[in-house]
Amino acid sequence: KKLGIALVGLGSYSGGQLAPGLQDAEHCYLAGIVTGTPAKEKEWMAKYNIPKKNVYNYENFDSIAKNPDIDIVYVVLPNSMHAEFCIRAAKAGKHVICEKPMAVSVAECDAIINACNEAGVKLSVGYRMQSDPYTNEIKRLVKEKPYGSVRYVSSDAGYISRGNPDQWRLNHALSGGGALMNMGVYSIQSNIYGTGQNPVSVSAQEFSSKPEYFKDTDETITAQMEFPEGVVGNLFTSHNANANRLFVSFEKGWAELNPCHSYGPLSGRTSNGKEIKFPHQSQQKLQMDDFAKHIMLGTTNYAPGEMGKRDMIIVEAIYRSIKEGGKRIPLDLGDMGIVRE
Ligand code: NAD
Repeated sequence: KKLGIALVGLGSYSGGQLAPGLQDAEHCYLAGIVTGTPAKEKEWMAKYNIPKKNVYNYENFDSIAKNPDIDIVYVVLPNSMHAEFCIRAAKAGKHVICEKPMAVSVAECDAIINACNEAGVKLSVGYRMQSDPYTNEIKRLVKEKPYGSVRYVSSDAGYISRGNPDQWRLNHALSGGGALMNMGVYSIQSNIYGTGQNPVSVSAQEFSSKPEYFKDTDETITAQMEFPEGVVGNLFTSHNANANRLFVSFEKGWAELNPCHSYGPLSGRTSNGKEIKFPHQSQQKLQMDDFAKHIMLGTTNYAPGEMGKRDMIIVEAIYRSIKEGGKRIPLDLGDMGIVRE
């Protein structure tokens, strides 16, 4: 059996990555769509062979509860809309995938998690890297320690935003924040899987060179995370510099992915001169298949809601540190959101 997924929000990520990924998926398929743009209904129905009864708009979306074709609702809207649509999906009795960043505040992450728990549905965040073989190879090196323990991790995530200063990503009311919310979450994620632990503190700095373009959101942020046993993590994120790299320094060697969080093919190497290499597959297909298997077979949920909430706690701590002049903000996360098999 394949589970039916309905995509909510048919923008560039749904159209460019998720719908194509679903064409190859083994455990789920594109069963329905939810869109606020009537012109997209016809286009998607024809392109993906979606019946009219599985097409919704933002107003009649809640009646998806009665549709047995839809098992999973995947929310792919601007960040400030995630909470509302994830909660409505849970109340409709559907399993939920929420795109990253999970929401625009920790309070909203809690509301999503509570709604899913109350409805008895499964929840996962759109962290495709958690299903990617390159990420998993780094996790393996951290866990099995062929180069000893990790001492230092550095992760960079950014691109140069050009053209439209009014896009939702640069509008705080819709995005909840700039580079950190959009790309910084990849650096937070890779700092954590690159050490296998949660940080115990964070300090951060903000940089700005184009305030006329980045009117409303952060342009560039650096942060330093302290992990248990004096392990140090470094984060760089920007909407005005290209960066896509993870470096993990072990006691007796290192591993690097560059690029590390784009759609692939990715590329990596270790200090013994070996290439890290896997056949290229759609990360989105792997991610959605993993979640479908979790629902049907009880296998691991690689990106549970607690992981998205934990990352939002770190995001809020980074913004707070910046506001307080780079002050070290202690974090009390325990093992929250760490997935061990
Ligand atoms: P997009 O701008 O291409 O699409 C956004 C969609 O939301 C559009 O269909 C638009 O019509 C709809 N929408 C509804 N209300 C809107 C409003 N008030 N303003 C703007 N758009 C509105 O964005 P996207 O790149 O598809 O991103 C959507 C979500 O997916 C975001 O949360 C983003 O962070 C996430 N995303 C994740 C990845 C990933 O690799 N996991 C990649 C890209 C985007």
